[in-house]
Amino acid sequence: MARKMGFYGVIAYVLYGFAVYWYLFHFADSSLPFEFQGSRADPATFLNGRELMLSEEYSKVRNLLFFLSTPFEWLFYFLILLLGLSKAFKKWGEETAKNKYGQTAIYLIWLSFFAYIATFPLSYISYTLSKTYNISTQSFASWMKDELIDFWINYAMMFVIVVVLYWLMNKFKRFWWLFAWMLSVPFTLFIMFLQPVVIDPLYNDFSPLKNKELESKILDIARQANIPAEHVFEVDMAEKTNALNAYVAGIGSNSRIVLWDTTLNRLNDDQILFIMAHEMAHYVEKHLYIGIAGYLILSLFGLYFVSRLMNWAIKQWGKEFKLQYPGDLRSLPLFLMFLSMIMFAASPVSNLVSRYQETRADRYAIEMTENTDAAISAFQELTKAGLSQVNPPLLVKIFRYGHPTMLERISRLEDYEVEKRNEQEDEY
Ligand SMILES: [Zn+2]
Repeated sequence: MARKMGFYGVIAYVLYGFAVYWYLFHFADSSLPFEFQGSRADPATFLNGRELMLSEEYSKVRNLLFFLSTPFEWLFYFLILLLGLSKAFKKWGEETAKNKYGQTAIYLIWLSFFAYIATFPLSYISYTLSKTYNISTQSFASWMKDELIDFWINYAMMFVIVVVLYWLMNKFKRFWWLFAWMLSVPFTLFIMFLQPVVIDPLYNDFSPLKNKELESKILDIARQANIPAEHVFEVDMAEKTNALNAYVAGIGSNSRIVLWDTTLNRLNDDQILFIMAHEMAHYVEKHLYIGIAGYLILSLFGLYFVSRLMNWAIKQWGKEFKLQYPGDLRSLPLFLMFLSMIMFAASPVSNLVSRYQETRADRYAIEMTENTDAAISAFQELTKAGLSQVNPPLLVKIFRYGHPTMLERISRLEDYEVEKRNEQEDEY
């Protein structure tokens, strides 16, 4: 029976893969609606023929990789259970270590190692793809170093979470999910607080803005929004990518606006000020806190559903999964699989909230800078540098886009310009 289930799982994944491929490459239409053709949102007006073709190709493959990788994770955990590997990892832990912590550590190292090996091909393809299209400029060694840092940070966090989680599962058989959630609140806040000062610097170098002339302009608008100067940083990304970006990270005294140096190198001052004003909106309107609150609410429901699903799955297929009760460490792949499924299912909602915040930030930025030409050309540069799709297929937008599409962002700026002009005419 276990073998049969594994077989069906693989078949289901392959069929899903074909369906996604068909959707992205044959069914979905990412051409521009008629009324936008020739507008400033039309990529044909700011990309050359080669860039147009590359951006379509590159986006399609990237979207395919995105839709393949999360369900691949589910398949991996499913097979780890069915093939008895989870049981074996636990046994290896018990054979090598005396105390519970050591056993958990060893179980986790095996699980993480297998997961890494299984998902490596997809991440490697994704890296080489971005290198082929000249988005990533990172050497293999540097990429691998980032991968290793990822691996160990995830491992360390996972260790803490799993020790506490399984203790709770055994102590509170019915309500472990509630206690786990309660503990996850301070834990999440603590990690968010540490992230920009402890975790992010492991990957890249952060510094105050290097171009002093530009810095004074940026800090000038930051002051208008009451953002202290020591909260604005630039990060050294040029060695890794040609893409442009900026973001807000951290909470409390560690909150900061970070501009990628690629953005600073590639855009002119007016364009940078627009991007900066956009990030300031996130900072001022505390979008990160709203995001965290939303995430915590979601995870309360998520953990509840995971606990129900685990009980149900173990009751149905305990024999095939080699599991008798949820509190057994061997059930971790089941926990991770269901959690990942629920997060994926909820991602359209979190993306929707995020797209709303991004729209607000764009609006704030254009009202502050009032330079639509700079704003629109900044978005055009962003599109060009990342070879991104201006008008992605609907499912891609729903599951992948935390930002509005460039078509929406640029045409809103054009609308703003018209709105502004009409207002001025009214005044005369
Ligand atoms: Zn934003």
